[in-house]
Amino acid sequence: MSNHFDVIIIGGGMAGLPLALCLAKTGKKVVCIDRDDPHKQATEKFDGRTVAISAGGSEIMTMAGVWEDILKDACPIKEIKISDNGSDSLLNFLSDEVNGDHFGHIIENRLVRRALFEAAKNQENLTHLAPQSVEKFETSSDQVEVSLSNGDILTANLLVGADGRFSWVRDQAEIRTRGWEYNQRALICIVAHEHPHNNIAIEDFRSAGPFAILPMIDDDKNNHRSSIVWTEHGVKRKSAKNLSDDEFQKTLQNLFPDFYGKVKRAGPLQSYPLGLIHAEKYTGQRLALISDAAHAIHPIAGQGLNIGLRDVKKLVELISHSDDAGNEALLKEYERARKIDNTAMIFATDTLNRLFSNNITPIRMARRFGLKTVSKLPIAKKFFMKQAMGLRD
Ligand SMILES: Cc1cc2nc3c(=O)[nH]c(=O)nc-3n(C[C@H](O)[C@H](O)[C@H](O)COP(=O)(O)OP(=O)(O)OC[C@H]3O[C@@H](n4cnc5c(N)ncnc54)[C@H](O)[C@@H]3O)c2cc1C
Repeated sequence: MSNHFDVIIIGGGMAGLPLALCLAKTGKKVVCIDRDDPHKQATEKFDGRTVAISAGGSEIMTMAGVWEDILKDACPIKEIKISDNGSDSLLNFLSDEVNGDHFGHIIENRLVRRALFEAAKNQENLTHLAPQSVEKFETSSDQVEVSLSNGDILTANLLVGADGRFSWVRDQAEIRTRGWEYNQRALICIVAHEHPHNNIAIEDFRSAGPFAILPMIDDDKNNHRSSIVWTEHGVKRKSAKNLSDDEFQKTLQNLFPDFYGKVKRAGPLQSYPLGLIHAEKYTGQRLALISDAAHAIHPIAGQGLNIGLRDVKKLVELISHSDDAGNEALLKEYERARKIDNTAMIFATDTLNRLFSNNITPIRMARRFGLKTVSKLPIAKKFFMKQAMGLRD
């Protein structure tokens, strides 16, 4: 193979591969490199999470040619109920109210990855190297050179860092970040329940942090399922992950509203430390960062990947109209456009988390009042629903 590409992408995850597929479809020559083995990445043990993909996100997965495959295993969200510390629902969003069929879809991460890996196998103009380690890269005014651990040297007009929140590309390019730890963890697992979920997603704002129940499609034995994102504060020692099976079961049952009936853990319990990371710059010489490598946010609104996919959309739009994917004007335009949108989402998710993850009485009263007020204001309600769907006015 010739070793010169339009774009080299380091990180073939849930944002890197969609970028690779979309660019290859526009005729650009692309290589996407990931250090991990795809077979391993598509297992529940590697990543047992689910992801809420909004209408905006599904548009990019459609451009990448994988949405039909993903949709087979995805569950539409038709109603969102918001409650406070186990209260009755204080705010209810129905997709009918915004003339929509659904607010987005819930799908297992491993299945998104599987669909992407399959599509990458057959995509013209795309080389997918995984597992493959990168030794180093060097950028100059006319190209970028990437050295692989097997001794191969690849060159391109642009290098994209899509290698997640602890981005190696970002570090090598000496791009500084801002951010903080939330002193919170997200416990995640799949839960089987007696009764159907009726396509309802629940976000219960508890003092420890939000507890979300997200509807999934039934498994192949027709068990009804939802996934949970259970945010915890404080020391790891006190995590629900350390409870005995019996205690965990009782606690889980108490967190689910009665209409689910009996509930039971149905997948591995995994824990993710939560923090905010925002790169000071998204670009450098012949280099761009996308998705979590540029901005890793709190999962409270389920928007991390969705905004990452909006980075993908913008970069594809710009590169597809240019002969030189790494030219300075293009990179400046990418950074300008995406920084505004991402900063707004970072501010919104950070504020939501601060407001809804504590039990100080005046704040608790204010948020209850706020939720009830929004529920009575059709314009405000419509605004929040469109945000949840990833559609912006
Ligand atoms: C608990 C939780 C729940 C979430 N729920 C949602 C949700 O409902 N909706 C939503 O939109 N977002 C959600 N998110 C956020 C979402 O998971 C991330 O935004 C998304 O995974 C980012 O994708 P990415 O491709 O940027 O990074 P990743 O998925 O982390 O992929 C990075 C890739 O880079 C590779 N890599 C890393 N380093 C190197 C290297 N040096 N060389 C080569 N390859 C490398 C890795 O192997 C990996 O494949 C959630 C996050 C958490 C923690």
